[in-house]
This record gives sequence, structure tokens and C-alpha cells, in this order.
Amino acid sequence: MSPRAGLDRKVLAAVERLGRALRAARQDVATRHEVSLLGLSVIETLADGRPRRVGDLAAELDVSQPTVSDAVAVLDRRGLIRRDRDPADLRSTLVALTARGGRVAADTATELAPLLAAGSGTATDRATTLRVLLGEIARLHAAGVITVNRSCLDCLHYRPPGTRSRARCLLLATSLADRDLRVDCPEHQPIPA
Ligand code: SF4
Repeated sequence: MSPRAGLDRKVLAAVERLGRALRAARQDVATRHEVSLLGLSVIETLADGRPRRVGDLAAELDVSQPTVSDAVAVLDRRGLIRRDRDPADLRSTLVALTARGGRVAADTATELAPLLAAGSGTATDRATTLRVLLGEIARLHAAGVITVNRSCLDCLHYRPPGTRSRARCLLLATSLADRDLRVDCPEHQPIPA
């Protein structure tokens, strides 16, 4: 194995390990709130206040529509989400959190905060890690492994840094240092194929 291939494997192994640890912590939180892990992901996704169609939730969470429909139905029965008519298409419904669902979302964020805040390394290290991880997500999105990516590195408005210029967001007319890169931006616009 080449040194580069060995390094790639170690990076993947490290990401997988982090993923397993985070999944276990999230499962604990989900169990406490008596929702499934997918149900918790639906609640966290809707916590940004943007109602979504079930199909959009499925794409964002990289699961099938029937699977997310089942999870949404359970959350609906528990009074954690509500369905409203989509004003853009009255045959469709939009899913949003109820006040009770919002409280679960807030509790979840609080419960997971210590895990996320316990990192080591400088702020610069963290910002570099963020950029590198977003680059990997963009690569997997281009390969079709990740369905939805609303981060800067995959956005029509993003301009990468040049030899003498910083990265920029043309929409917000601002420079983007690594620490400013957004993982899930409401203004994100996909790059046309
Ligand atoms: S619109 Fe959002 S995602 Fe796109 S470059 Fe600007 S900040 Fe990043």
C-alpha cells in the first residue's frame, strides 16, 4: 500500500470511529426522548424552522421516502411535528415541528453540546478540519454518495481563494475564512449540473 493510500485509510478509520461514537451518544438521547434515531434526525433537521416535504427530508437524511414517512408518522402521533398545506402546491404537505417538538430539539442540542465542545486543538486546527471535512463531503456529493449538500464548497455563490485573495461568498458579499464556512446554509444554491 502506498503511503498516501495508508493515510487515506487512517483518515477514513478515524472518521468512522467518530461517527460510531456520535451515533452511540445520539442513540442515548433518542432513547431518553422515546424517539428513534431517525426520528431524532428529523427533529434536528426541522429545528432550523424551515418546513419541508417528506421527500426533501428523505433526501437530506439520505434515506428512502417510505422510511422517513414512517418516522414522521410516529412523530406526528406523538405530537412532535405537524403537517401544513404547502402554499406552493396545495396537493402537498409540509412538515414542521410543534412547540413540543421544538422543546425536544432544544433539549437534544443541550444534551449533545458537551460532546461537541470537548474538542482539543486550536481554533485554527478546528477551522482547517472543518474545511477538509467539507471538501470530503463535496467529493462524496459529486460521487452520488451524499444526496444533499448545502455547504459552501458546493455552492454556486462560493468562490475559492486565489493566490492573493480569500475565499468569498458572492451572495453575502463577504470573505469566507475557513471558520466561516457553512455546513448547512439557508442561502445555499446548488451548482447546476
Ligand atoms: S450562500 Fe451560503 S453556502 Fe453559498 S457560499 Fe454563501 S454562505 Fe456559503
